[in-house]
Amino acid sequence: MSPIDKLTQLFEKFPGIGPRQARRFVQYLLVANPAIRRELAEQIQALGANTSQCKKCYRWFTKENKGVECNICANSSRDKNLLFVVEKDVDIDNVERSGYKGLYFVLGGIIPLAAAEPAEHVRLRELLKRVETENPTEVILGLSATTEGDHTRELLQEKLKNIGAKISSLGRGLSTGSELEYADPDTIGQALANRS
Ligand SMILES: [Zn+2]
Repeated sequence: MSPIDKLTQLFEKFPGIGPRQARRFVQYLLVANPAIRRELAEQIQALGANTSQCKKCYRWFTKENKGVECNICANSSRDKNLLFVVEKDVDIDNVERSGYKGLYFVLGGIIPLAAAEPAEHVRLRELLKRVETENPTEVILGLSATTEGDHTRELLQEKLKNIGAKISSLGRGLSTGSELEYADPDTIGQALANRS
């Protein structure tokens, strides 16, 4: 197989990328500055070598502190009473910009409506264990304002209800259908202030 076809196939594996977009990426790389191709290849290599997954919140981080925890979990000035549950890593970057100072847990996705076994789709057991071990006073569910997001929220509320922490959800400052990933920091800040 030619490098063009091979690379197109690889890009097609990316979330949300179809054959046509994959082909456009390859076309871009064909005409791009060789330095860009080199840097891309190097950074992809470095991603595997220098990145690890935090043992507490499950976000991916660059191993600058040699620990098994990311810089947020390892930061003693963060408010350990607050645990913010997000769907994916990229949501954390956005919530950070809103000025939130507590800790996080990356659920790793959302629970499909028809899921018979929710723990196969998200880190449900890991979340329950984290809450039991650390006893935060409040668990904030920052899930998408979509049908599946609502479904996931209800299921988590049910699973967490006997644990003793207050369970809150982001206020409806987030419009219906919106994902945390695309919300601006001010909106997230408002939704946080209006959580209930
Ligand atoms: Zn962490």
